[in-house]
Amino acid sequence: MDLRQRIRTSQALELEPGSKAVVAGWVDRLRIVGKIAFVILRDLDGLLQVVVKKNQDPQLYEQVVELGQEDVVAFKGTMVESKASIGGKELVAEEMRLLAKAQKPLPIDPHDWEKTGLSKRLDWRFLDLRAPRNALIFRVTDEAVNALRDYYRGQGFVEVHTPKLVAEATEGGAEVFPVIYFDKNVFLAQSPQLYKQMMMAAGFERVFEVGPAYRAEKHHTTRHLTEFESVDIEMSFIEDHEDVMRMVERAVIHAIDRVRTRYGERIREYFNVELTTPRDVPRLTLREAHELLKKHGYTPSDPLDLDTEGEKKLGEIMQREYGAELFYVTEYGWEGRPFYTMKKPEDPRYTRSFDLIYRGLELVSGSQREHRPDVLAEQIREKGLKVENFEFYIRFFRYGMPPHGGAGLGLERFVAKLLELGNIREARLLPRDPERITP
Ligand code: ATP
Ligand code: MG
Repeated sequence: MDLRQRIRTSQALELEPGSKAVVAGWVDRLRIVGKIAFVILRDLDGLLQVVVKKNQDPQLYEQVVELGQEDVVAFKGTMVESKASIGGKELVAEEMRLLAKAQKPLPIDPHDWEKTGLSKRLDWRFLDLRAPRNALIFRVTDEAVNALRDYYRGQGFVEVHTPKLVAEATEGGAEVFPVIYFDKNVFLAQSPQLYKQMMMAAGFERVFEVGPAYRAEKHHTTRHLTEFESVDIEMSFIEDHEDVMRMVERAVIHAIDRVRTRYGERIREYFNVELTTPRDVPRLTLREAHELLKKHGYTPSDPLDLDTEGEKKLGEIMQREYGAELFYVTEYGWEGRPFYTMKKPEDPRYTRSFDLIYRGLELVSGSQREHRPDVLAEQIREKGLKVENFEFYIRFFRYGMPPHGGAGLGLERFVAKLLELGNIREARLLPRDPERITP
């Protein structure tokens, strides 16, 4: 038996009865009924029943009954019709090759992932991911990120790769990881912000990046990781932040639609979530959002920002009253936004900024950026940062910088909300938080 002839279980199930097939995967279950052995074989695509009858092939039967759950095995045989089997067919085995034994007991049983705490699941992530439901999270991630990439590429964006070892914090002082870099203190990048903007000065007009971002988030929440995947864009020649918002909402809607088309059925089956493609994305200014919250009996804690509880409440109200899972809040207060954000010309207490809220959680933040170097330097000072440390950055603005803006989307938050996962950690292959740095 040659593994090069191996096909996936889904392909085997499509074969005409009577066809020969080589399949391989993990032993999901072994059942012995009378003198017949049934192996449920699992691969990435699904399950296939393999049958061996003792009276037809006593030698093979003896081999098969020795198998254990999670052993890796290949079978060669003939596909036959079988009404009672998964997919209406099964493989009558003629040959078997044991490729690897699984040690017993299993640290966690992929069938019982629900009974295992998340922390232990993450300790044994490779076994946890053998559960089809858990593997699906990462196939959805793959589809979502490719859909975003495809959308932006189609709009003339070019993907860039910016440094993750940086000299200055980009998103504010505290939540930054220092790194020992030879004899210097440097940081892990919190975002590609300053370099995306450099690319606007370089005349690239539209760039995007999918890459890791690092935040020293000390608090344990279900929506923060210390390392996450950020999908960032930056675009030039905009009138205001609305131009960025239109771009981002179309990309996000395209991604939701692609995930729904490809995995909607399986998402319903495994997560009990009905995905719908949003048609339009309502917009509220921060002030309007606060008014709406107050009308529903919630008093926001900060007049210039939206607190987490308010964000969640607003999500519920927008869903219930306007059927909107996805909406924008715009014009956040200057206090709560980073130094590179453009202030609202008519009222500088506010900014030309926005957050995209998906199912009650901030998914994207973005803004028009301040592109006038003198104003930018002043804003850096206002935030209590040292202008000297940003000289390398302000330089980008002195030799012809077009008006521009951009946004960043948290990929794990996107997937967590698409699948309504309770904890963002489930949406990261190997999440890092203040306690966890392995495996
Ligand atoms: P929050 O207020 O929810 O902590 P933020 O406003 O600090 O987020 P931004 O700097 O606006 O985050 O980052 C852009 C996007 O990146 C966010 O909208 C979110 O989707 C994602 N993101 C930010 N921080 C984290 C994190 N610690 N873990 C996972 N995703 C994050
Ligand atoms: Mg934000």
